[in-house]
Amino acid sequence: MSIKLRLKNIIGRSEINALERIKYVADHDQLTGLYNRNKFFECTRKLIDEHEDTLFAFIHCDIDRFRLVNSYFGEEEGDKLIKFMGRNVKQAEKRFPFCTYGRIESDVFCVVVPYFEDVVEKAIKDFTEALINYNPSYYIEPSFGIYIIDTRNTSVETMYSRSAMAAKKCKDKYMTYTAFYDNGMAEELFNKQELINDMQEALENEQFVVYFQPKYSLKKKAFCGAEALVRWNHPRKGFISPGEFIPIFEQNGFIAQLDYYVWEHTCILLRKCIDLGLNPDPVSVNISRVNMYNTRLVEIISLLTKKYNLPNSILNLELTESAYMDNPDTMIKIVMALQKKGFVVMMDDFGSGYSSLNTLKDIPVDYLKVDMKFLPTGKSNGRSEKILVSVVKMAKLLDLPVIVEGVETEEQKDFLESISCEYVQGYYFARPMSPMDYEEILRESVMA
Ligand code: C2E
Ligand code: CA
Ligand code: CA
Repeated sequence: MSIKLRLKNIIGRSEINALERIKYVADHDQLTGLYNRNKFFECTRKLIDEHEDTLFAFIHCDIDRFRLVNSYFGEEEGDKLIKFMGRNVKQAEKRFPFCTYGRIESDVFCVVVPYFEDVVEKAIKDFTEALINYNPSYYIEPSFGIYIIDTRNTSVETMYSRSAMAAKKCKDKYMTYTAFYDNGMAEELFNKQELINDMQEALENEQFVVYFQPKYSLKKKAFCGAEALVRWNHPRKGFISPGEFIPIFEQNGFIAQLDYYVWEHTCILLRKCIDLGLNPDPVSVNISRVNMYNTRLVEIISLLTKKYNLPNSILNLELTESAYMDNPDTMIKIVMALQKKGFVVMMDDFGSGYSSLNTLKDIPVDYLKVDMKFLPTGKSNGRSEKILVSVVKMAKLLDLPVIVEGVETEEQKDFLESISCEYVQGYYFARPMSPMDYEEILRESVMA
């Protein structure tokens, strides 16, 4: 006798319906009717175990900035989009002989299918197109992360996180919707976690070292100040460059503390140089975009220069152009408040973004920093030079001095001289150096 029939003898029909209902609710997502996380994981385990000879692909799909759909168009619209995704995910049934799929959370769906490259590719392409064309009034960008299940006995949970790591790789990459997991990604994540574990102790033990890269005046043919750049002297990993840890600290907010540390060490060096009679030129420090949201920023920096009894004009502040694009009004307010206190403000990475010209019109900075690397190189038929010439010309019209960074060769230097660019910074003149070496440069220029 079947379980159902046996049960029927013990409890009535309506109870069975109620039990089935409970079971259904426990296994399914209410909105889409697809399996929920637990049930999907369970079925996927079974699917992989039952098809020993099949190579599977674990596909993670979500939408970039899905939150925005909810907040701009309302939850009802968000729900509609989720249901639409659910219906598309279900199509896997028609394309593959066997598969599992489910809604993991919010806008995250997963599908596990046999890895027939062409079929998978076509399925993703169709799904992407459906999403992009879903609603002409807003732009949807999906991310597909694919983990080819090469170790079948790993937990489904791990397979899921590998596919999620791959999906993360396509976020913020324009027109890239698909990425495959590779072992380097896990290593990268592990490395990142290690840096996060070590950061607080590193700050307390002064493992962060502030280097100084001299700036050079082409007109005066002499060094004129420097930029403070942080490095991490890690006890196990050695010297780590900021490109590796700054983006992580910007994500987790630790950059606010690290920036303060760099500003303070810069003030300490400047105080020391003044006391030694070295007559230092201003040194600039970087201000991370995260600090733009600190309402006490201006006060904090002012207290620091006061603490070391320095004139505000000796600490220059570099704000990145992209921070301006995040929030123009806040940035304009901050720049003006800093200038009112006597600080000099530089716009860093000018030309890296898209709204550079607008930026110049609206924002009252004192200097412009342009990086050579933002200019197209190679077969540009002199276009990059033309861009630089017009930036320098335009800046002149606005009475805005320009500092060109990343100058590595004599030709670049000669070219910049020929277009009357006044300030430069780059390996050709000097690399970032320890405070001791920088003091030496100041000593030499005092004697000259
Ligand atoms: P950035 O502010 O644009 O700094 C200039 C970068 O260009 C520095 O890299 C510098 O070493 C490098 N550089 C200078 N001259 C040349 C050259 O001739 N050729 C080439 N290829 N590169 C040159 P670094 O020190 O690795 O710093 C990278 C970025 O990390 C900085 O870019 C800045 O955005 C960030 N950063 C560094 N220190 C700090 C800090 O204390 N706070 C914050 N918020 N960001 C920092
Ligand atoms: Ca900078
Ligand atoms: Ca820069």
